[in-house]
Amino acid sequence: MAVERTLSIVKPDGVGRNLIGDVYRRFEQAGLKVVAARMMQLSQAEAESFYGVHRERGFFKDLVKFMISGPVMVQVLEGEGAIAKNRDVMGATDPKKADKGTIRADLATSIDENIVHGSDAADTAAREIAFFFRETEICPRKR
Ligand code: ATP
Ligand code: MG
Repeated sequence: MAVERTLSIVKPDGVGRNLIGDVYRRFEQAGLKVVAARMMQLSQAEAESFYGVHRERGFFKDLVKFMISGPVMVQVLEGEGAIAKNRDVMGATDPKKADKGTIRADLATSIDENIVHGSDAADTAAREIAFFFRETEICPRKR
């Protein structure tokens, strides 16, 4: 399988509950390497733009409100099949439906506050990485 990059976010609940390290440990144990990272406070406009595909959904307003409720940790993960692998490590959107051992099953409290975001396909990964990082801010890992 090809080496891919994907965009990951530890959401405000994960940062606020001091779970950054727990989440990063799970990425690293799955063979996903952090190749760029930044903590930041999203503006309302940034959150609306980032989750723009969901603009028409009933949960959009609450989703944006939640995503700007505190700082987030944004990272690019690199590895073999990184996009699907990260989704596996994250677990299903609804923590009640997520497999045991996944971030969302083990750590999340509800579908609204589900700790992490991860890109869902190659095209969205490319778009989402470019949303947050310049190419020069990404550090390819040789080892
Ligand atoms: P994310 O994009 O955050 O990684 P996801 O890809 O698993 O999550 P999406 O369908 O893209 O899920 O939804 C984006 C976010 O919107 C979810 O993480 C969740 O917080 C929220 N969301 C999705 N579906 C619902 C729903 N039915 N009710 C409430 N919130 C929802
Ligand atoms: Mg999604």
